[in-house]
Amino acid sequence: MNNRILEFDVIICGAGPAGSTAAFLLAKKGLRVALIDKEVFPRDKLCGGLLTKKSYNLIDSIFGINFLRQETEFFSNRFEVYYGRTKIISSFSKKLFLYVDRKKFDFAILKKAIESGAYFFEKTKVVDIDVNNLLVFTNNNTFKGRYIVAADGVNSIIRSSLVKNEIIDIREYKDNLTLAMEFYDYKFTTDRASLYFGFTKFGYGWIFPNKERTIVGMGALISKNNGLIKKQFNNFLNSIGYKEPTKVFSHLIPTGWIPNRVGFNNILLVGDAGGFVDPITGEGIYYAVRTGQVATDAILISEKNKLFAEINYERFLDKMLKDLRNRKRYRNIVFGTKFRLFIKIFLLVQLIVFRDKILDFIHEPS
Ligand SMILES: Cc1cc2nc3c(=O)[nH]c(=O)nc-3n(C[C@H](O)[C@H](O)[C@H](O)COP(=O)(O)OP(=O)(O)OC[C@H]3O[C@@H](n4cnc5c(N)ncnc54)[C@H](O)[C@@H]3O)c2cc1C
Repeated sequence: MNNRILEFDVIICGAGPAGSTAAFLLAKKGLRVALIDKEVFPRDKLCGGLLTKKSYNLIDSIFGINFLRQETEFFSNRFEVYYGRTKIISSFSKKLFLYVDRKKFDFAILKKAIESGAYFFEKTKVVDIDVNNLLVFTNNNTFKGRYIVAADGVNSIIRSSLVKNEIIDIREYKDNLTLAMEFYDYKFTTDRASLYFGFTKFGYGWIFPNKERTIVGMGALISKNNGLIKKQFNNFLNSIGYKEPTKVFSHLIPTGWIPNRVGFNNILLVGDAGGFVDPITGEGIYYAVRTGQVATDAILISEKNKLFAEINYERFLDKMLKDLRNRKRYRNIVFGTKFRLFIKIFLLVQLIVFRDKILDFIHEPS
């Protein structure tokens, strides 16, 4: 442990899409930025890698059109939806779905951040923060900033610190955690996204295409499934023809915890750390990049209006927070009923009658 205090304008904890986007944009504006991550990059990140239109439009607008031209592993507008083994619909979306490999994609954004002048500290694990003095304690150095951006993912140490200090309320956090599991099939290839309902409650299974592998996964709310999600995942895998997949990975997604505060004074929560994920689909890359961008705007405005960045950030996020609350309400309609036949008919009618509206709901920002 080194006791040196390193001073920066902004300390960004976590170099996923949320943290690296904020680091890229803030460093580009001339602020001294420290970007800290516990891992060595390129690192693996469990994810389906699916980008909707709102995600790729946003990423294009921040990193330029060539960025995703290089980072896209696969693209397709084909999708199908199953209930159990029954195929309900096989169709096309007017807008493409892009698929990235998170190991390469996250590394590419990180490189953009470093190129724009951010100082990157890898193998540097945040262990605690001092919320009043804006100090970040790590396994290596102590960092001091005028702002702190918490981009350290679903198990955020910074969010825990704000909870410990009774600033953030996480009563609803546990009830809205999704356990997501995936494994990679390097032999089977597909050209479409397949979604599977009926194997779990408040969740779904997926098969997503990619360049070198097909990604097979399932995610569901822990609080609704009485410890059965692993078994349900195996049932799903068996039903689509997998007997014993060798390596299954799992990770949490915060789906539907909407924070009572989006930070504290000059500390801002972004991406998974702040619960910014679609409560129905579990899509998080868009929200990570967008909150990284909005946190940047909030900090830059704070430099001028001298208000706490949290005040500006909350104001800028108002529309997104309302939209996430609405999506959480729809979740109960989509997944809430106990009648399986009803869900089947409901899905079928919705998909046939409102197909384009549903696709817009998935693809377009609020
Ligand atoms: C199985 C699965 C499938 C998914 N599929 C999709 C999908 O297809 N499309 C989509 O849009 N979203 C998907 N998501 C959600 C998406 O992956 C996340 O919402 C997104 O990665 C959030 O980005 P982030 O930058 O907030 O956090 P992360 O990407 O989790 O990055 C956090 C970073 O913080 C670092 N870190 C954590 N703790 C510390 C610490 N103490 N000190 C220092 N560094 C730390 C980590 O190493 C990591 O690099 C999926 C999630 C899962 C689990």
